[in-house]
Amino acid sequence: MVKIKIGLEIHGYIKTDSTKKLFCNCNISHEEEPNTNICPVCTAQPGSKPMAPNKEAIDKIVAIGLMLGCKINQKMLFQRKHYSWPDLPTGYQKTISGSFAEPVGVNGNFLDIGITDVHLEEDPARWDPVSGCVDYNRSGFPLVEIVTDPDFTSIDQLRDWLKNLVTTLSYIDAIDKEAGIKSDVNVSIEPKYQRVEVKNVNSYSSIVSSAEYEVQRQLELVNKGLDVKQETRTWDDESQTTKFMRSKENAQDYMFIPDPDLPIIKISTQEIEKIAKSLPEKPFEKKERFVKSLKIEEDDASVISSNIYLAETFEEAIKNKVEPKLAVRWVRRELLRVANFQKKEIEDLPITKNNLIDIMTLIQEKKITEKVGQKIIEELSVNTFDVKTYVKDNKLEAVSDSSALENFCKEAISENPKAIEDFKSGKESALNFLLGQVMRKSRGQAVPNDVIPMLKKLLK
Ligand SMILES: [Zn+2]
Repeated sequence: MVKIKIGLEIHGYIKTDSTKKLFCNCNISHEEEPNTNICPVCTAQPGSKPMAPNKEAIDKIVAIGLMLGCKINQKMLFQRKHYSWPDLPTGYQKTISGSFAEPVGVNGNFLDIGITDVHLEEDPARWDPVSGCVDYNRSGFPLVEIVTDPDFTSIDQLRDWLKNLVTTLSYIDAIDKEAGIKSDVNVSIEPKYQRVEVKNVNSYSSIVSSAEYEVQRQLELVNKGLDVKQETRTWDDESQTTKFMRSKENAQDYMFIPDPDLPIIKISTQEIEKIAKSLPEKPFEKKERFVKSLKIEEDDASVISSNIYLAETFEEAIKNKVEPKLAVRWVRRELLRVANFQKKEIEDLPITKNNLIDIMTLIQEKKITEKVGQKIIEELSVNTFDVKTYVKDNKLEAVSDSSALENFCKEAISENPKAIEDFKSGKESALNFLLGQVMRKSRGQAVPNDVIPMLKKLLK
């Protein structure tokens, strides 16, 4: 195996409740008509000045830094990163990166990959090179940039790590999933480790594909006895290849200067502690705890911890004394089953945590059967109601009355002489057939574990 080094620079759109841009009060929306969410600030009209940065975006980025194990700097200074491009009306981008900047978070570590820094910057506008039109709607959106050390040594490790990163950031609802990401992927291989930077990588899966392609390309050069050149390339999604963009000698000088229009942002130790306290346990920590202390299967623990809603519902059920195995079955299988059926995200189903806990508790106390529980959860995926009242009103309680159960069994036996014959001649499957008949007669409200012994007793 060839030795490789990969590092990432990932930009994502920060999600805030206020949905305001970073330096003005324009709305953040990724779907509106071009140039409808704009003002003099985000279009850089002469004389306009940025407002103080959106506090919520600052808090979010501190939370991201903490989740990735970074040390948080208490002073943040915005820089002007100069470049001339039609998407940038000021001629510079406001960013907390560059020569004089102290990024928000530094020296982090997330699952054995060093985090060089985590910082905040504004998004430029969108320029269409074909029509020449510029849409300023997204100009000034708050972006987070996560820069890793070149610590990835295999493609599999990269793929796993990205999956964990996405889940972890989703736990704090940090990044707008719908809006996509922009990423640079830096790849180098032995013996000389010449760094090739791949730009224009716009999804998590493309990060993996572009790294895989680039390792292969460099390996072929080395095998032919050629040198890998230090250069910038661009990822082409269509052909799934990287293409030459510019050599190192042409690297841009951004002429960073501190932005005189913006104040230094100070954040106190207490504020950082407050944010730290509000953060959830990380997904992989949850998974480990589920496996170790609740003794559930690793695969189940993975699925449940991959979504904070599932994880919280599961933990709430355990707190309410639902047995872990039953909780796994309902949180992982049943909830996902109805979500798939309705083609919805779990979070968008009208089913509440309490609904699910009520169903699980009723099953555990043998007050309803699993079958009835399944019907209730299907109904709950389109309607809201109180589970306990619903069970009472619709007379869905499990048939625990043994005389009622005996009657169902007797009926099933007298109506199916063929099955009785089969059973007596040793066919065990006949018993399952009779069980099916009893379940149908009881509308799913008989408990199979009670029915089988009852049938056997009557057949003797
Ligand atoms: Zn604006």
